[in-house]
Amino acid sequence: LHRNPGEDEFHQAVLEVLDSLRPVVAKHPQYVDAEVIRRLCEPERQIIFRVPWVDDKGSVQINRGFRVEFNSALGPYKGGLRFHPSVYLGIVKFLGFEQIFKNSLTGMPIGGGKGGSDFDPKGRSDGEVMRFCQSFMTELYRHIGEYTDVPAGDTGVGGREIGFLFGQYKRITNRYESGVLTGKGLTWGGSQVRPEATGYGTVFFVDEILKTSGDSFEGKKVVVSGSGNVAQFAIEKVHQLGGTVVACSDSSGYVVDEKGVDVALLQEIKEVRRDRIEEYAKARGSEVRFVAGRTAWEVPCDIALPCATQNELDADHAAELVRNGCKIVAEGANMPTTPEGIKFLNEAGVKFAPGKAANAGGVATSALEMQQNASRDSWKFEHTEQRLEEIMRGIHERCLQTADEYDTPGNYIAGANIAGFTKVADAMLALGVV
Ligand code: NDP
Repeated sequence: LHRNPGEDEFHQAVLEVLDSLRPVVAKHPQYVDAEVIRRLCEPERQIIFRVPWVDDKGSVQINRGFRVEFNSALGPYKGGLRFHPSVYLGIVKFLGFEQIFKNSLTGMPIGGGKGGSDFDPKGRSDGEVMRFCQSFMTELYRHIGEYTDVPAGDTGVGGREIGFLFGQYKRITNRYESGVLTGKGLTWGGSQVRPEATGYGTVFFVDEILKTSGDSFEGKKVVVSGSGNVAQFAIEKVHQLGGTVVACSDSSGYVVDEKGVDVALLQEIKEVRRDRIEEYAKARGSEVRFVAGRTAWEVPCDIALPCATQNELDADHAAELVRNGCKIVAEGANMPTTPEGIKFLNEAGVKFAPGKAANAGGVATSALEMQQNASRDSWKFEHTEQRLEEIMRGIHERCLQTADEYDTPGNYIAGANIAGFTKVADAMLALGVV
């Protein structure tokens, strides 16, 4: 920890994984002898750069850009870009570290990386976002490529931003290299189901958990936090599978809609108007409540899906969920539950699916986008969704099998961390000390 002072989120992510790995290193001393864990915790490369751009008033703005290329034992670095004012090295490193194990779990040939900037797209015009993205790519382009590092979207980086980034990459390099970024639009190299993939994948994973006890989504009440990309499509898939999402949120508060959140309206408010969640309640009328400044975890539910941000669900929230009868928590976001929150849920017997397993559908579908780009092909929606569903069921099975193998039956955290780790660790052993 002393090598990386002040990077709290990175420490949290590393400690959570290391805790699960005790029985693995006891059984396999070769990982210790080759210093695999210490090598895994040190990114292969970290790039930090200045991003100057001019706002609509003609003033010069300066942001900081990051790309952390964490581990390439299994394939090119792969992981999203996050644009949010909270971004600093500790956030990018926690996300990049998680990404190594998540990508390994998908079974696809992709390494782990992550990047972003402390740029805040909120309230910025399309022109400002474009100029920022162009400046960001003017440095990033020299570090990425189809066979080296393939960034994608994350918080604050959606189709609009990927478009501006790809446009600038193409202009600088004079290469139509579709496989350099994922999350592209359908008419210029994107994949069907990529926007939906993380949210849908999380719900497919929960569907598998339900099936282990002969249950289904039918009639279940679900609470989702956030109202961005992951949240919107998680809500849509829950409804398709017969459950009802009764609440969702943004950083200003939450809405309760007992009849089921209207996804089309939510998307109109969030993606077109780029407005606050309160506007959803106003548009829906008197039956829908907006609660300012609080989290949605106080709304009774059977299943909770944190899909907003890191550390948004703590021990008090966990206690409230358990009191209200919640039986499953699955992380659509990255590390949304605090260590104390996880401990409380585990002790209360709540089934808990960690993000690196439950939200891996996004990056898995990005890898499917890379496959389509490499073969100059584009697949149909149904086919791509079926592939996603198979991948999520595969991850679920791998987690449970590994948890059994290490005498922690039903423990998805241990299963995900150990299964993700062993695949990368074995590749690192095979590749020598590099
Ligand atoms: P978006 O930017 O599309 O949405 C984020 C949402 O979370 C917004 O509604 C935002 O509200 C809300 N939010 C942020 N902070 C809080 C808070 N403190 N309380 C309540 N709501 C909050 O991001 P994504 O949906 O893409 O990503 C969400 C999470 O999922 C992140 O952890 C991301 O790393 C993870 N993830 C995303 C993947 C993807 O494919 N997009 C893949 C795998 C993981 P507001 O507008 O007020 O800020």
